Amino acid sequence: EKRHKVTIIGSGNWGSTVAKIVAQNTKEHPELFHKDVQMWVYEEDVVIPESSPYYDPAIGTKPQKLTEIINAHHENVKYLPDIKLPDNVIANPSVQDAARDSSILVFNLPHQFFDKVCSQLKGNIVPWARGISCIKGVHVDKDITLFSEWIGEALGIYCGALSGANIATDIAQELQCQTTIAYEPPLVDLDNSSTEIQRDSRARAAKTQLVPAPPEYPPLDCNTFKNLFDRPYFRVTMVSDVAGVSLGGALKNIVAVGIGFAAGRDQRPGLHAELIRLGMVEMVNFCKEFFGETFQTDTLTLQSAGYADLYVSCHAGRNFKCAKMAVEQGCTVEEIEARVLNGQKLQGNSTAREVNTFLKARGVEHKYKFFKAVYDILEGKESDKDLYSLITAE
Ligand code: NAD
Ligand code: 13P
Repeated sequence: EKRHKVTIIGSGNWGSTVAKIVAQNTKEHPELFHKDVQMWVYEEDVVIPESSPYYDPAIGTKPQKLTEIINAHHENVKYLPDIKLPDNVIANPSVQDAARDSSILVFNLPHQFFDKVCSQLKGNIVPWARGISCIKGVHVDKDITLFSEWIGEALGIYCGALSGANIATDIAQELQCQTTIAYEPPLVDLDNSSTEIQRDSRARAAKTQLVPAPPEYPPLDCNTFKNLFDRPYFRVTMVSDVAGVSLGGALKNIVAVGIGFAAGRDQRPGLHAELIRLGMVEMVNFCKEFFGETFQTDTLTLQSAGYADLYVSCHAGRNFKCAKMAVEQGCTVEEIEARVLNGQKLQGNSTAREVNTFLKARGVEHKYKFFKAVYDILEGKESDKDLYSLITAE
């Protein structure tokens, strides 16, 4: 008789959109899920302007807590304005409280903020929880780690990945698109003996014990996740390649910054197409070189998480737009980000730096000319004018 409680960790532009999708589905599947979806919100003060339908003369332009605004008006006025969230999305400023008793944790925040949130969650989740990472980025210290791996190892749970050609504001308006979910936990040993849980990424074999859900809960299998995310306007394809799905989402952001640099000076579709192709070649090579045990090239060529995401990101993504504006206005990508995104965060600039740190440490930076060129331009070591020649140099 038990049902899965679902928590969304993050409430930005995509976090709030995914909360909407999930909350529509928990309402439709009472046999699987608790109706209410907790959404962890990084609390901040927000002013409601007089022009807003939510303006209350009794409060005036005094700053109000974002969580209180979301729970009162069912809208994330800062990060997803003009979109009604279902009334079963509950904004919560405490991540521990939001995740309490949840068996499904959906991680959806800019990757640079994950570390702190993860420490707050350690020891505060149910042991049989499962995760889905919607984060597009990688973690680099001495090695490179997928977010699904990091979440899995840090929290001792299995974590899959969701990524696709998904512009949040389009999907929030229920405009048709597709996505890819990679979810393939090992079979749970019901005797509760030790199980390796990382065979989906690099078989790096974190020796975490995967705890089965108590038998009174519905199974936590692929169908459960399909039912949680699939909508008539958001079609889900389930696959098993967590590395391909995660890296497709992370690496395409570097390429999108590069295409933005190119577009700032030259609008020719032929040039953009060739650069996109070269970027995809590098993405595939990177996945094969560092995640080759499980990566499947088809994930990047055939799934939404691959070429389709690269395409849309290089036309309509924030990384693309901000890099293009940086060239047009003669300033840095970070200056544009701070000026135009109203608190939303780019992932491509930090991912370019993280991937460069990793490649340099391995002594293979020269093999990834596209990633290196974007990094060097971001660092001011090279000019965006030279992007094409840097990438195609022998
Ligand atoms: P966003 O760009 O809207 O970022 C803003 C969020 O960051 C807000 O929720 C804000 O509260 C939070 N934040 C700010 N400072 C913080 C701090 N110190 N600690 C914790 N949180 C803080 O975020 P998003 O668009 O929801 O992106 C989340 C992930 O989803 C990213 O990896 C992104 O690449 C990916 N993604 C985004 C889109 C999109 O169209 N927006 C689509 C697909 C995937
Ligand atoms: P941006 O973060 O560049 O907006 O990309 C969004 C995205 O991931 C589209 O799938």
